[in-house]
Amino acid sequence: MSGHTRTSGAVKVNPSKKTPKVGIIYPGSYAEGMSNLAFQELFSLCALNKSVSPVRFFSHESNEYNENSENNYSDNSRPEKNHLHDSRGRRNGCISAPFLFSPEGADVSSICGAVITSSFETDILNLLKIALCLKKYNIPSLLGGLTAVQHADTLRSFFTRIYTGVINNEISAFFNHLPDIPFSDACSSLSSSEFVTPPSADKNKPLICHTALLSDSTVFKNTFLIETSRGCRRRCNFCILSKKSGGYYEHPSSEILSIISKLPSEVKKIGLVSAAFTDRSDCIALIESINAIGKEVTVASLRMEQLTERLISLLKANNQRTLTLAPETADLKIRTNIGKAYSPEHLLRCAYLAGSAGFHRLKLYYMLGLPEEDDKTAEEITVQIRQCRDALNRGAQRSGIMPKLQISISPFVPKKGTVLEHAVFAEEHDIKRRVKIIKSRASSLGGVSVDTESYRFARLQYVVSHKIEELLPLALRIVEENGSIRELEKISRKI
Ligand code: SF4
Repeated sequence: MSGHTRTSGAVKVNPSKKTPKVGIIYPGSYAEGMSNLAFQELFSLCALNKSVSPVRFFSHESNEYNENSENNYSDNSRPEKNHLHDSRGRRNGCISAPFLFSPEGADVSSICGAVITSSFETDILNLLKIALCLKKYNIPSLLGGLTAVQHADTLRSFFTRIYTGVINNEISAFFNHLPDIPFSDACSSLSSSEFVTPPSADKNKPLICHTALLSDSTVFKNTFLIETSRGCRRRCNFCILSKKSGGYYEHPSSEILSIISKLPSEVKKIGLVSAAFTDRSDCIALIESINAIGKEVTVASLRMEQLTERLISLLKANNQRTLTLAPETADLKIRTNIGKAYSPEHLLRCAYLAGSAGFHRLKLYYMLGLPEEDDKTAEEITVQIRQCRDALNRGAQRSGIMPKLQISISPFVPKKGTVLEHAVFAEEHDIKRRVKIIKSRASSLGGVSVDTESYRFARLQYVVSHKIEELLPLALRIVEENGSIRELEKISRKI
């Protein structure tokens, strides 16, 4: 059990703290890392320990960013400005690891241990770079996150310890041990080997992960993110969470509200993070209680069959401008096969309610390349988009605000560890043809935009997920030659 008292979750970075440094490393950009609750929580747990100091590291290929005004939650560690950019404004990397940079101005060679969290297949190249660099400087390392869960056996030899459990009191205790025992010994003391452990045992009860440092350069600008549940009770056959999470744990409202009520008044926006927020029976009461504290709420993960007029109006009253839903496909048989058998009426009702509530945008996620899909499915999607557009317009007549309809299309990646892991990854020409069908029809509708995720990067995810053993030697060669993820993607086409 941790000895920490987490009074508010605010973490002040004290650059002058002269204690051993622990690297909290994210193998992606600053914007992504600072929006990642596992990364933020690891930073927070380390910072709460008086005997070690966290220093952050992100991929050098991060986007530009600006810090916001200073307050307890701001990422206002001044060394960032000086250490990150040279006189021409270019970002400086670490001396010992030029592919990484540290907002605290730390160097990898100065840390006593590293904790890395990774959730995406495309992190693989950066992960290998990080692992080899840490080995070179003899720095013990702990890798966690979904990547660790999925590829534990393959990555075991690259890190001191692979952690496949969740962020719980055991991880908190891990940071507490650090002053007394060496980092590598603390790594070996970790016991968890399951992705989600039963919440009944206090030792394994998931902590409520939340933002430690606010930044205006993250994916969710200046929004205090807080987890409302862990895992997912749904069983979507394409989703890694549905099989791996093994359980669902809802954080009690009282504990969520206790954290939020201690936030300073300058923190105005709260992002509620979960797999499906509307699965909570108290979702409306929770939003109203947060509003009563004087904060606005934004929620992303909504299930259309659970969305009520009351909830949609409440989200709009919280100044949420975009309503995001994931129909995935318009074909009933395919929907049933992937475990998402919603009724089209639910979707159209949500579109109407979004329009009448005055939302500025309705965003719909679709996948192409699902099992048993053909060009007719793309046609069905275009029909559904048109119906949604019409329903939005009808609703908009009540609000007087004409919302945009944004369609986001991704290639379906059959991931290892899911029910659909053996499904075929679709050919590029098939996906392209179906995208073309949807785009050409949508362009005539007015107020509809269509974004597509790169087929090639989706394929790289597929190769990493299924053929990491084959990819690894090639990836190591790219690391040696200081190559990029684009080169890895090119090479992965041959696998
Ligand atoms: S896709 Fe979403 S709702 Fe479905 S199992 Fe995964 S996290 Fe849960």
